[in-house]
Amino acid sequence: MAKTFDAVVIGGGPGGYIAAIRAAQLGMQVACVDDWKTPAEKPALGGTCTNVGCIPSKALLQSSENYEHAGHGFAEHGVQIKGLAVDVGQMLKRKDKIVKQNNEGILYLFKKNKVAFYHGHGSFVRGDANGWEIKVAGSIEETLTARHAIVATGSSPRALPGTTFDNKLILDNEGALAIPEVPKRLGVVGAGVIGLELGSVWRRLGSKVHILEALPGFLGAADDAIAQEAWKIFTREGELEIELGVNVASIAQGKAGVSVDYKTAEGKAAALACDRLIVSIGRVPNTEGLGADRIGLKIDATGFIEVDKNCRASLPRIYAVGDVVRGPMLAHKGEDEGVMVAEIIAGQHGHVNYDAIPWVMYTMPEIAWVGKTEQQLKAEGIAYRSGRFPFAYNGRALGRDEAEGFIKILADAATDRILGVHAIGSLASELIAEAVVAIEFGASSEDIARICHAHPSLSEVMREAALAVDKRSLNG
Ligand SMILES: Cc1cc2nc3c(=O)[nH]c(=O)nc-3n(C[C@H](O)[C@H](O)[C@H](O)COP(=O)(O)OP(=O)(O)OC[C@H]3O[C@@H](n4cnc5c(N)ncnc54)[C@H](O)[C@@H]3O)c2cc1C
Repeated sequence: MAKTFDAVVIGGGPGGYIAAIRAAQLGMQVACVDDWKTPAEKPALGGTCTNVGCIPSKALLQSSENYEHAGHGFAEHGVQIKGLAVDVGQMLKRKDKIVKQNNEGILYLFKKNKVAFYHGHGSFVRGDANGWEIKVAGSIEETLTARHAIVATGSSPRALPGTTFDNKLILDNEGALAIPEVPKRLGVVGAGVIGLELGSVWRRLGSKVHILEALPGFLGAADDAIAQEAWKIFTREGELEIELGVNVASIAQGKAGVSVDYKTAEGKAAALACDRLIVSIGRVPNTEGLGADRIGLKIDATGFIEVDKNCRASLPRIYAVGDVVRGPMLAHKGEDEGVMVAEIIAGQHGHVNYDAIPWVMYTMPEIAWVGKTEQQLKAEGIAYRSGRFPFAYNGRALGRDEAEGFIKILADAATDRILGVHAIGSLASELIAEAVVAIEFGASSEDIARICHAHPSLSEVMREAALAVDKRSLNG
């Protein structure tokens, strides 16, 4: 007989597992179905984020940053290192250990919150407003009845037309996080967040990295000033080689490497030969095999599950969150949607403020922003004032040897309400939290300018940028 739950979540990534935990906290009987498998066929909760995304990429970014500091930065501090070497095997082992810790942590949280976990593939069989029947195909088959269903099936890497990922020479994110030795020449197709982060890891470890990007502009979603600064830093001598506006014609795989034929922005034929190629040209939502067509769940023309602003899908008592629905493919966006949906099911007023979702790139320097860019404000005809302050005038940044970049604050010209905050610099990923709080609370730039910030700290750059909106920075 089918087991009945108040909520069944399909997918155990950040969108799904957080939805399951919140629903359980609110007193519901909850099940979560997830099909992720380790090479040993064991479950590994946490989805893309934990297994082959946010967590392992940040582990390798840190290891490679340590290596780069030791090789290039320590001497300036008077720290001499002899016999510096990279042990990629150890780096990968450490990364895998962190991933496993996270997998086990989520399993522990499920037990603590009494979320029933089913390891297998979930699909809709039939149902109506009273409940949805969900089949779980795993090592054993089960049928669950869901009073409410939450789809959080995430996304998968998009392949270039005519090529497949073998994860030996042509790599998706999973392969790019497990290269067994440092490739001499690494090609990357796609200069988005994933391409830049993963390209940076291997560049720091010694690869010559060449990135091909189809779009004519760099980091189109970022504020123009940030994108320009990032371009200047990332493409200087010895860093990443990035070509914009290219058109990849074909990819050929040989025994020892990959060659990419492409047209440059000027229309000239060119070729890139590399030992391995990372393809990071976006991700596609996972809806195949979900049984959406069997129950008539609407999928839009681009493959995303159709939802309203509260993540309600086209059928009663079905919700969808995370990468499988519209909006930025960010773990914390999925988590917040998971919380919202659980609270709505429980009869509360869950909501997500899509205008206050931070974006972060863990490059060096880091890039982070929240709210509107200057070009968006111009396009929308909103009058604003802008304040900008460099890390170069900040004592802590100088002490850390990380004095590049700046923070820029955009505030409404009439009310001074903060509309956007854009940072490129040391620990921008952490600094942006203050800006998110400010935007959520409708703060003005003067509010930040009048708040006491610890000295010496990087957060003083945020305060000085706020003061700069009123043209009264104190240290610059
Ligand atoms: C290299 C890389 C780095 C990233 N770094 C960051 C970062 O730093 N910060 C950030 O915010 N985001 C980052 N992201 C994006 C982030 O990983 C995703 O936005 C996030 O994982 C989406 O969460 P989700 O729960 O929607 O889906 P996922 O994490 O993809 O999880 C979906 C889960 O559902 C399972 N599943 C799918 N279909 C079924 C089914 N029918 N039945 C059962 N289970 C199913 C999948 O196997 C998976 O386990 C990164 C992504 C990549 C690839």
